[in-house]
Amino acid sequence: MRWRGGRSGGGVEDRRGMSGGAIAAGGGGIAIVVAIAAYFLGIDPNLASGIANQLTGGGATQREGTFGTPGDEEGLFVDKVSANINDVWAAKYGDSYTPPASIVIYEGGTGTACGQGQAAMGPFYCPGDRKVYLDLSFWQQMEQLGAGSAESARAYVLAHEVGHHMQVLSGASQKVQQAQRSLGQEEGNRYSVALELQADCYAGVWAANAPSVSNGEVAFEPGDLEAGLRAANAIGDDTLQRRQGGTIVPEAFTHGSSAQRMEWLKRGFQTGDPAVCDGTFDGL
Ligand SMILES: [Zn+2]
Repeated sequence: MRWRGGRSGGGVEDRRGMSGGAIAAGGGGIAIVVAIAAYFLGIDPNLASGIANQLTGGGATQREGTFGTPGDEEGLFVDKVSANINDVWAAKYGDSYTPPASIVIYEGGTGTACGQGQAAMGPFYCPGDRKVYLDLSFWQQMEQLGAGSAESARAYVLAHEVGHHMQVLSGASQKVQQAQRSLGQEEGNRYSVALELQADCYAGVWAANAPSVSNGEVAFEPGDLEAGLRAANAIGDDTLQRRQGGTIVPEAFTHGSSAQRMEWLKRGFQTGDPAVCDGTFDGL
């Protein structure tokens, strides 16, 4: 994936090396297990963090990190890709798009408006403070899940999280929450899947439009879409359920099957049109 020539200024908030807000390593065993399940099974992060808080007795302290472009390679990647994602959505939506408040990169744990953020939760978006939270050790977790180490796969994850921010701006998140109040678990899960697949689709739309807002400096190269699809495949609900040694329970899906996640990422990429992504709600 090409990204080095892209602009910086992606709104990174660097909390790496900050001790505040972290639950001591090794002290949060139960919380971490719950959090892993929460992320991959797609429990609302608000709820997941609440669970983590209850288990650890911790309150979320929200100490801000350092804003600006990080000097290290991994930080720079997040900064430049985020800047490009913002440029794509600003080009599509003009002033009605406002970037996330920041892209927080952290280590171990950190305070968020949604409760205590934990590395094991995987990347998440907190609507309460409009920030994306990313512990960079997730890149290693992805490899362990078979999602690979391609930069395009990592960028897909980042764009997916910004997709959740878009859903707050568009009101889709609020509509789903509203609907879920009066729905049973299974029906409610179908709405969660629609949101997740829409975020996957947005990630594809981003990748399709990345070159046009960066003079080609940020772009998927041959093989990059496939690497993104491999990642989508590895983190589908059915694949994760299988990895956990369980039977496949489609009613419990909250992110979508591997096939669905790949399909919507691809559909976004092939059309480059965010309106297409509303199709994940068809039939609901
Ligand atoms: Zn998601």
